[in-house]
Amino acid sequence: QTVFVSGASGFIALHVVNDLLESGYKVIGSVRSQQKADRLLKQFNNHKNLSLVIVSDIAQLGAFDDVFEKYGEEISIVLHTASPFHFSTTEYEKDLLIPALNGTKGILESIKKYAASSVERVVVTSSYAAVTDFAGDSDKTKTFTEESWNPVTWEEAKKDPYTAYYGSKTFAEKAAWDFLKENKDKVKFKLTTVNPVFVLGPQLFDENVSANLNTSCQFINDIVHSTPETELDKNLFGGFIDVRDVSKAHQLAFERDDLIGQRLILSEGRFTMQDFADIINEDFPKLKGKIAVGKPGSGQDLLKSIAKLDNSKTKRLLGFKFRSLQETVDDTVSQILKAEHK
Ligand code: NDP
Repeated sequence: QTVFVSGASGFIALHVVNDLLESGYKVIGSVRSQQKADRLLKQFNNHKNLSLVIVSDIAQLGAFDDVFEKYGEEISIVLHTASPFHFSTTEYEKDLLIPALNGTKGILESIKKYAASSVERVVVTSSYAAVTDFAGDSDKTKTFTEESWNPVTWEEAKKDPYTAYYGSKTFAEKAAWDFLKENKDKVKFKLTTVNPVFVLGPQLFDENVSANLNTSCQFINDIVHSTPETELDKNLFGGFIDVRDVSKAHQLAFERDDLIGQRLILSEGRFTMQDFADIINEDFPKLKGKIAVGKPGSGQDLLKSIAKLDNSKTKRLLGFKFRSLQETVDDTVSQILKAEHK
């Protein structure tokens, strides 16, 4: 079976591609440039089951047309992971909202045009950002589940980069479910979404470790490169999940029929920056005295005043145990230190 993975060079997608190849699937991945394609093929030792195509900008509707016109009949599974995940822009519509929305709409339209009868399963990498909003997640009277939706409007999403990213994931996921409703007689595929909280864990390849990691791993990278004087952000919290579990969930999401139509919230718990610092200081004696310490043990205070995330349905459906905070932080830090020869 051939799986198409959009955004194959991404932090999460690299793990997904690797797991798929190890499971014997043929993979066609999209990347934004020939340079990225060459690098990736080399990293995967020119694996015989991996081929790459160039899709330079998913903001362009029709960006996936050529790929599906050429390979559509061969592709039975589509994993759409490509979407901008960063906060470093002031052009929120252009750089976050439109690429996310058009990327999802565009890939589904291309399937409809060229692969309506061959693509059987589609998995969209959505996010917990499509489940909750900022204010809601800080409201301790609230509980978020697989049924919850971020209520953000397009206008609100144009206000700041964080709301824009949350909006981008919300509008893109909604577009996918709406597309299926409107086209259920015209396409064959079944849809599942994967909605991770902040994804942590090692980069698939050690050589991808750099001063600036992908947005979620950068929280940990910042602490590894902090000084004893660095103040930890006392208000920052989030959910965590290990990238290796996110990858596994993407594969199960299309392999298993009981996951059709589900939104899978991937989370193993909540974290604060203090929790990261506590684990790193405890588990990496060589960093002791060199990095931020904060107020050890105080992370839980913040977590008492936030909303509840209840993803027990997803955990029951997936049926495997997610990695702990300690394991994901330790493996992230070990790789950074190894890459920096520390
Ligand atoms: P990365 O930034 O590593 O991956 C994003 C991928 O999307 C990259 O391959 C990137 O290509 C590609 N991409 C972004 N914008 C465009 C565009 N305009 N045209 C074509 N390709 C584009 O992040 P992650 O691996 O973390 O994210 C993967 C997915 O998971 C995203 O959909 C993200 O929203 C979602 N997610 C991530 C979470 C996390 O904590 N990491 C949490 C929840 C959801 P390039 O690198 O070449 O720019």
